[in-house]
Amino acid sequence: MRKDIHPEYHQAKVVCNCGNEFTTGSTKEEIHVEICSKCHPFYTGQQKAAKARGAIDKFNKRYGIQA
Ligand SMILES: [Zn+2]
Repeated sequence: MRKDIHPEYHQAKVVCNCGNEFTTGSTKEEIHVEICSKCHPFYTGQQKAAKARGAIDKFNKRYGIQA
């Protein structure tokens, strides 16, 4: 089994919009994400993201934009 035919695998640094950083295995060296397990309401139970989405829905409704 030839080792050099595989793409290089890094411990990628993942940087989230919330400021959280963590590492994951990836062929990329650095990944930027908008949401992570720390700030996602599914994981945290926080209402932050849901609240923001509600505001956007309200805005869209007001201006008749179908999201
Ligand atoms: Zn995050």
